[in-house]
Amino acid sequence: MKFKKSEKLYKKGLKNLVGAVNSPVRAFSSVGGNPLFIKKAKGSKIYDVDGNEYVDLVVSYGPMILGHRHKKVEKAAKKALKNGYSFGASTEAEIKLAKIVCDAFPEMDKVRFVNSGTEAVLSGIRLARAFTGKDKIIKFSGCYHGHQDALLVAAGSGLATLSLPGSKGVPEGAVKNTLIAEYNNLESVEKHFENDDNIAGVIIEPIGGNMGVVIPQNNFLKDLKELANKNGAVLIADEVMTGFRSTFGGAQEKLGVIADITCLGKVIGGGFPVGAYGARNEIMENVAPIGGMYQAGTLSGNPIAMAGGISTLTELKKQNPYDKFEEIGNIIEIILLETAKKYNVDLVVNRFGSMMNPFFTESKVTNFEEAQTSDTEKFGVFFWEMIKNGVFLPPSQFEAWFLNSAICDKDIKVIANAVDKAMLAVSK
Ligand code: PLP
Repeated sequence: MKFKKSEKLYKKGLKNLVGAVNSPVRAFSSVGGNPLFIKKAKGSKIYDVDGNEYVDLVVSYGPMILGHRHKKVEKAAKKALKNGYSFGASTEAEIKLAKIVCDAFPEMDKVRFVNSGTEAVLSGIRLARAFTGKDKIIKFSGCYHGHQDALLVAAGSGLATLSLPGSKGVPEGAVKNTLIAEYNNLESVEKHFENDDNIAGVIIEPIGGNMGVVIPQNNFLKDLKELANKNGAVLIADEVMTGFRSTFGGAQEKLGVIADITCLGKVIGGGFPVGAYGARNEIMENVAPIGGMYQAGTLSGNPIAMAGGISTLTELKKQNPYDKFEEIGNIIEIILLETAKKYNVDLVVNRFGSMMNPFFTESKVTNFEEAQTSDTEKFGVFFWEMIKNGVFLPPSQFEAWFLNSAICDKDIKVIANAVDKAMLAVSK
């Protein structure tokens, strides 16, 4: 496999782009080598500029749940494009997408569309404060909620990949209202509530996806909701990654928990820039123009993005691929574990439906600390062998792999072959 054109573009990109990327997770800092430059994608495959074909387990870090360029999504976006790209005024499409989203989450009466997951969460946090009249937010170590100042502490994802404890440029004042707790450890949350009556909300990825995949144990989420509400705080579910992915109603539906505020992104736009936050009327009516919490956006509810979201979610509901995801996810999990055993490699696989990832460790992984026991050098070796054998993975131990509904039996064979080669290389 050759990567000459990618190498050339990388060198060219370095001149006017920072690290030749527009998001640090796309850099290959933790796995070595240069990032691949992509030319196109279709269905379950992605193609780099050198013409190499890969089974895509990144799918744009989650949004492309139907695979790339689904014909219904493409048709809807093209149709919308013909009517104009942005109006700065309301359209019927926003109402349609709002109904689809609110119908999917039981206590969500209203939703507000924004342009990214980061925006959804920063607005969701502001709303929690507006609703409760309190200031502090509890977040969990290893959970990533976008790159807003207040939550860029112990934030997993790209920061973990680059071994950064937090971000430079975030003033102390911006994080003074952020309290850190440990995932799957209710006591660590209780302690904060015991010492502080100024806590507006607890924000959580209901399935951790940014420290690798980490699953809530026992009744962690239910207990968390109860604890937060008992103390006059709200539970904010950051379902940017899990919304419409874990099931149509997100991780909350699957886990039987209803958060007070839900933040969405990724799948909701089907590859176009859409984020959203929603809640019951009592909470949402704090948002301007009804209430006093200001939040706005020139391109929010963009008609092309709305068309992408409506067509993606409509098709997703029709396909209902969640059983298929479970089945394929399970097959890939078994492939990983059995191959690791064959080559005597210590491996733990965490998976929740269509989200999964392997950790090169022998200990179970239920929080960020345990995730960090993974041997990232081994992951680097594994990553490159997977690439060379036709499987596109996120270039980080701490990013989840995602399935899409276009994946087929042939792709699974490619994955199995690549895993065999990659595990052998790791074992050497
Ligand atoms: N929240 C979670 C759980 C995420 O995984 C991400 C991004 O990966 C975000 C928020 C931020 O979303 P965006 O990158 O669209 O700003």
